[in-house]
Amino acid sequence: MLYLVREKLFIGNINAAAEVLLNGSEEITHILSVLSSASISFFSEWKSNFSVPTKEIRTVYVGDSNSDEDLEGDASDKTALSSKKIHYKLENAGKDLKLVRMAVPLRDMESENLLDYLEVCLDFIDESRKKGSVLVHCFAGVSRSAAIITAYLMRSERISLEDALESLRQSNESVCPNDGFLEQLSMFEEMGFKIDYSSTIYKRFRLKVLGDSYNRGEKIDSSKFAADPGLPITTTGTASQKEDSTPIPTSAFRCKKCRRVVALQENVVSHIPGEGESSFEWHRRSGGNMFNKYEERECTSIFVEPLRWMKTVEEGALEGKLWCTHCEGRLGYFNWAGIQCSCGSWITPAFQLHKSRVDISTV
Ligand SMILES: [Zn+2]
Ligand SMILES: [Zn+2]
Repeated sequence: MLYLVREKLFIGNINAAAEVLLNGSEEITHILSVLSSASISFFSEWKSNFSVPTKEIRTVYVGDSNSDEDLEGDASDKTALSSKKIHYKLENAGKDLKLVRMAVPLRDMESENLLDYLEVCLDFIDESRKKGSVLVHCFAGVSRSAAIITAYLMRSERISLEDALESLRQSNESVCPNDGFLEQLSMFEEMGFKIDYSSTIYKRFRLKVLGDSYNRGEKIDSSKFAADPGLPITTTGTASQKEDSTPIPTSAFRCKKCRRVVALQENVVSHIPGEGESSFEWHRRSGGNMFNKYEERECTSIFVEPLRWMKTVEEGALEGKLWCTHCEGRLGYFNWAGIQCSCGSWITPAFQLHKSRVDISTV
């Protein structure tokens, strides 16, 4: 089934997409496929006699220098956390290769990273509607495609998640993005209908994604960590160049003992002191001693994203100490299961630097 959402914008399931791919369509010129694989072979695995010609336009991998993420600046380079995975595939498909299909590999799982695919998907929908009509589909047409169209309505019409979803339900009442996607869509709303790589919301999200992949037993290597700010930057188009155009100095945290830079302000994943106190602390607060309230305690640590000098993290342990890579002085502690800051906030996963072991200075 195909459902019209807006002029030149349809939502559907895999059946609807297969029908358009096999037989063409009077109206639809573009297809956005959101399936667990970006390959057209997903259709033939699903339906044995399915066969349509395709011709690749381009395949972009996560972290590629020409990927759309990089157009946002050098965020994806510094806040790495990437791996060699298909970001999207663009191809001509169907009879006479008339259709343009973009495919993004995304599973319908709460822990799946939808946010990092949003901008490329929404831009594709925008472009497609200028040239023709677009069908956005996933397997059931209920969760993944609905999440992307919801984000599209939010961005293009400047409406809240709630309003966008409600509006989409008027086209197809069965749409229902999974809870993890809904949570990410509300982050998208909070970030102003874009992916703000420098925001705390985004940094916390990426940290959670990394924590989830650690919990699934995936190997965590330093390619997923942010660049070591203590090393000279060698790649082109990154911080050194940027500094000329933006003379605002960045604060850096240096090892107190040897002065090596160990983190930049932009690596910090900030938290609101006392926020998210664990519920088992309730009796402490209801004890009536206002001065013991966590909110009034100062944070004695800063929390950062994992950085490439953190060799002990790469060894795969759940928790461990963080040592300065230059003088081997102790800087802090990490724990994938989380650490409670002195203010009461739980940070999960946590990469902690003790304020007593680092100095703040401008680079
Ligand atoms: Zn704190
Ligand atoms: Zn040191």
